Amino acid sequence: MKRIGIVNQKGGVGKTTTAVNLSVYLARAGQRVLLIDLDPQVNATSGLGRVAEGSSIYNVLVEKMTPAQAVLNIADGLDLIPATPDLVGAAAELLENPTRLSEAIGAIEAGYDAVILDAPPSLGPLTLNVLAAAEGLIVPVQAEYYALEGVAGLMHTVDQVRTGLNPALRLLGVLITMYDPRTLLSQQVEANLRANLGEKVFWTVIPRNVRLAEAPSHGRDIAQYAPTSSGAHAYRRLAEEVMRRVQEA
Ligand code: ADP
Ligand code: MG
Repeated sequence: MKRIGIVNQKGGVGKTTTAVNLSVYLARAGQRVLLIDLDPQVNATSGLGRVAEGSSIYNVLVEKMTPAQAVLNIADGLDLIPATPDLVGAAAELLENPTRLSEAIGAIEAGYDAVILDAPPSLGPLTLNVLAAAEGLIVPVQAEYYALEGVAGLMHTVDQVRTGLNPALRLLGVLITMYDPRTLLSQQVEANLRANLGEKVFWTVIPRNVRLAEAPSHGRDIAQYAPTSSGAHAYRRLAEEVMRRVQEA
């Protein structure tokens, strides 16, 4: 399993934070990682201090540009295909071609151990392309009251994609984010998710940590910005757990 989609139709649950910092720690563990920004809000791209000047995922998906032409090197073992706001305009094309992203990844993945896909906050054509391309899904959920309901809806869509477009698709894990151990609510949400989803929930929990929110405004990942923060430790542990789960899958 190489292609991992970070998916949740809700915004603000930690998808991009997870896509960026998981990619960083996988690369630091020696994996060759390609991160692909698939959100017209371009948060993964800007959070890593980049702007797509020439080529972006838009050119790859709509104009069928060779993906290698759009790759930016970020760090040792970490490459990025950036997004641009005009990715919104790819919707019609992608609706007609839900496997366009999958085909593009096929043309470049041989050079990588992991391809991480940062999906936008919707179930539209971009996310459908992510679901059609991914082998494993990580579903970040914020430790708040309606966490479980959101996951149930997404799992229904995943089942549909599995029986149609992409039989290889499976859930790698649900990731609890923005966890605050001092609140009863966080504890209850975690207990509820674990009771309902069992081992599908990652052991690693991402705490609410202001360093994780600050890092992107400096164009830095958490390993550069605050390597000893609780957020950094959590994402390093997540990378280890993801590598274990990928091997067992
Ligand atoms: P999504 O991609 O799902 O919309 P983001 O990763 O962009 O979510 O996170 C939403 C906001 O919350 C961002 O401002 C981000 O910096 C912040 N954030 C994400 N994870 C955490 C965390 N564990 N602790 C504190 N802030 C976080
Ligand atoms: Mg995002």
